[in-house]
Amino acid sequence: MDEERVVHCGSHGPRRAAFVCQHLVRGSGLGFFAPDEPGDDLQGWCEACEQVRARCGGWDDESEAVARIKLICDLCYQAARERNSR
Ligand SMILES: [Zn+2]
Ligand SMILES: [Zn+2]
Repeated sequence: MDEERVVHCGSHGPRRAAFVCQHLVRGSGLGFFAPDEPGDDLQGWCEACEQVRARCGGWDDESEAVARIKLICDLCYQAARERNSR
């Protein structure tokens, strides 16, 4: 893991960085999708983003414009995953 990847969360202080789509940050029950092959980065996105991503054949300018990926901390990521998983 890249030691530089630290996010200073307003709620949790310095934590490991994670990336989610703009909808998951505050939403709930939106569905939760993660990479098929998880890398070092924690990533997640909602069902609406997954549909655009599938149509685009992956992440490209269009699907990324919909997702507008946000940087959050790993604890916020876990909370977002629990809120949005169906
Ligand atoms: Zn989304
Ligand atoms: Zn946090």
